[in-house]
Amino acid sequence: MDTSDLLALGKRYWLPVYRPREVVLDRGEGARVWDRDGRDFVDFGAGIAVNALGHGDPDLVAALTEQAHKLWHSSNVFYTEPPLRLAEELIAASGFAERVFLCNSGAEANEAAIKLVRKWAAAQGRPPERRVIVTFRGSFHGRTLATVTATAQPKYQEGYEPLPQGFRYAEFNDLAGLDQAFAPGDVAAVMLEPVQGEGGVMPAAPGFLARIRELCDARGALLVLDEIQCGMGRTGSLFAHVQDEVVPDIVTLAKALGCGFPIGAMLAGPKVAEIMQFGAHGTTFGGNPMAAAVARVALRKLASPAVAANVARQALALRHGIAEIDGGRGLFAEVRGRGLMIGAVLGDAYKGRAGEILDRAAAHGLLLLQAGPDVLRFVPPLTIGDDELAEGLRRLASALSDFV
Ligand SMILES: *Cc1c(COP(=O)(O)O)cnc(C)c1O
Repeated sequence: MDTSDLLALGKRYWLPVYRPREVVLDRGEGARVWDRDGRDFVDFGAGIAVNALGHGDPDLVAALTEQAHKLWHSSNVFYTEPPLRLAEELIAASGFAERVFLCNSGAEANEAAIKLVRKWAAAQGRPPERRVIVTFRGSFHGRTLATVTATAQPKYQEGYEPLPQGFRYAEFNDLAGLDQAFAPGDVAAVMLEPVQGEGGVMPAAPGFLARIRELCDARGALLVLDEIQCGMGRTGSLFAHVQDEVVPDIVTLAKALGCGFPIGAMLAGPKVAEIMQFGAHGTTFGGNPMAAAVARVALRKLASPAVAANVARQALALRHGIAEIDGGRGLFAEVRGRGLMIGAVLGDAYKGRAGEILDRAAAHGLLLLQAGPDVLRFVPPLTIGDDELAEGLRRLASALSDFV
């Protein structure tokens, strides 16, 4: 079947909730991918911040194939070794968690966190109306009904009403708004991304998480951190929140945890580790041995000082390159983010055109993401090399030269 026939299948048969670029990718190596017609692309998107070790990492491939030859699946009615070892290793790496729930995606990890907050509040004798979870404008927490309600962006919610109750929205990085959100005295948890991803690559301001932690402690609420996109080394430390010097009660992970093999995790600290008991929650596939075998290798490699050093090095190079491409032309109003999670905010003359720029980038051999209509999102593999990064920037410059 030729490529145009394949593209036609997508248009004809997929629920049209996606609008992929007109490329059919076929294989990858490092920070490069090739389509089925042999064209190569530099990958600055990493499958939405997922392929943190790039494509074709030999250790990940070995872990997956070795497990595939042994046992694919057991459900959680029987133990297998990989998810047991992964749980221990995640807890050791986290420095705060006592128990882990393994699942298959980010939304599921956040769904588990929301349910755990509710159960915890219930165990304290709080009535349902005093189990409010505060989330922030611009957040993204997933697409299930509860997580899309936690996602304080109308565009993801429209038409799905009635939405579940018990969520309240506050302004991100606004301390006064936070006090207001707590005022009714009914808050059970605050849930946020240390660096907002989908909402525009917006880092929490210095001190914001620490102030939330203080308020949560003072008002008897839990702190839930969604590190699904910003965790697993993306910001330069394995967990983003260590840079904010806070200790959370719950952390959710997914995306880069399996480096492309689907897996999610909810890490529970001492206040909540014993709240959910037998039968309180579950999943058929969660902790699948193949996913867990891959995640163990991903965790070990992404926690290494070499990866952190490369993130620091390439983040500097990427920011420098973006500034150079702009060259004072006002293409970008601001470049923000942390580590290799970088957002370039389009200047006034280019507002709303991120989608077009992504099309141009693909045409020039660069896979790039947006975070809303006004922000180009750069989340390359954390192992990207100097040459791949430089080549990606050259292609970005060509793509942008179509615009100015
Ligand atoms: C991607 C993402 C999710 C949802 O993860 P899925 O695997 O798509 O369900 C939740 N939170 C954040 C911060 C994300 O970036």
